[in-house]
Order: sequence, then C-alpha cells, then structure tokens
Amino acid sequence: NTFEDFYLKRELLMGIFEAGFEKPSPIQEEAIPVALAGRDILARAKNGTGKTAAFIIPTLQKIKPKVNKIQALILVPTRELALQTSQVCKTLGKHLGIEAMVTTGGTSLRDDIMRLKEPVHILVGTPGRVLDLASRKLADLSETPLFIMDEADKMLSREFVTIIEQILLYFPKDRQSLLFSATFPLAVKSFMDKHLTKPYEINL
Ligand code: AMP
Repeated sequence: NTFEDFYLKRELLMGIFEAGFEKPSPIQEEAIPVALAGRDILARAKNGTGKTAAFIIPTLQKIKPKVNKIQALILVPTRELALQTSQVCKTLGKHLGIEAMVTTGGTSLRDDIMRLKEPVHILVGTPGRVLDLASRKLADLSETPLFIMDEADKMLSREFVTIIEQILLYFPKDRQSLLFSATFPLAVKSFMDKHLTKPYEINL
C-alpha cells in the first residue's frame, strides 16, 4: 500500500513525503481509511508504530483551513507529548495552512487567551487546561467534529476521567472519536463503552 491510495489532498501528500514517510506503517494502513470514513476507532498501539501520524493524517485531511473554528481536539497526558503532537501537525500539515495550538497546565492562561484570538484548527492539550478554556467559553468546541485521545491508558488511569467527561459535554452529539492506547485496562474499556459509537478496534 501507498499513501496515494488514501486519496489525500495533494498538499497533505507533499507534507507526508517531505517528512520522509514512504509508505504507511501497519497502524496507518488500518486506521487512516477507517478514520477518513468517519468511524470511531479504538486502537491498541505502542510508541514507535507511527500512531501519531495515524490520527494526524485523517485529521489534516478533514480540516477546512478556511473555517476559523477548532475542528479537532487532541487530548494527551503531558505537555511534552502535546508539543510533540503539535509538531507532527506542523510537519505533515506544512502546506495546508492549518494552525495547531498547544495548551497545557503550568503555562500562562493569558498567553492562551491571546493565542485563541488567532485561528486555531487543532487544539492539542492536557485535560485540565482544556476544560478550563472550554468552561470559560474561551475555546469553543460546540462545532468540533473530531475528538482524539492519545495514551488513553495514562489519562484514564489518573484522576482525569471526570475532567475528560466534562470536556465531552461541550462537543456536538455527532462527534467522531479516535482513542489510542498502549494497553486496554478496564478504565479504557468502560470509557469506550460509554463514549464511543460502534468503534472499529485495531489490535497490533
Ligand atoms: P510514533 O509511533 O507516532 O511515536 O512515531 C514513531 C516514529 O515513526 C516517528 O519518528 C515518526 O516520524 C515515524 N513515522 C511515522 N509514520 C511513518 C511512516 N509511514 N514511515 C516512516 N516513518 C514514520
């Protein structure tokens, strides 16, 4: 298989090839078409498998750069991972005019408020700060069609679950959800049962 098989935007393919990706990794081959088709996904995938690009590529394909709205929220457990994830958005989306913003605890809320005055298509952040922004109506998720959670096992095993569930209340009902997790503890399973719609399961 090749990246051309997914019928991606030309500018997105350019970003993918410029990043040095020649062909999709197994998780990308399985996840990208399913995500593009609009289905929920629960994927068991370790670091190093190409899982980040597996959810960033369909995200970049779906986003409309001219629409000045948050069109995807990516929740991650740490600031470090948020920065890495947003870097992948920037690298692969280099020719798309899509803007990603990182928001995490331990940084200036004022800076986030200033940044939100500029276009943000993809919000990448940790749960506490994202809920803070959503509940203060600083970040509008009411028309955000895509919800992504990476390292779900790390997030759901902490005290994050109630925060994440509160964040989900700000989304439209028909959102698409993509969950990536290295392991599937009970917390992830019960979250899936409660919040995902007929998820396509990937076990690699
Ligand atoms: P991840 O599993 O998301 O942490 O990615 C692991 C590494 O694989 C990163 O350095 C990516 O840039 C790289 N990578 C992801 N997808 C591909 C691909 N299709 N071809 C080559 N390298 C890739």
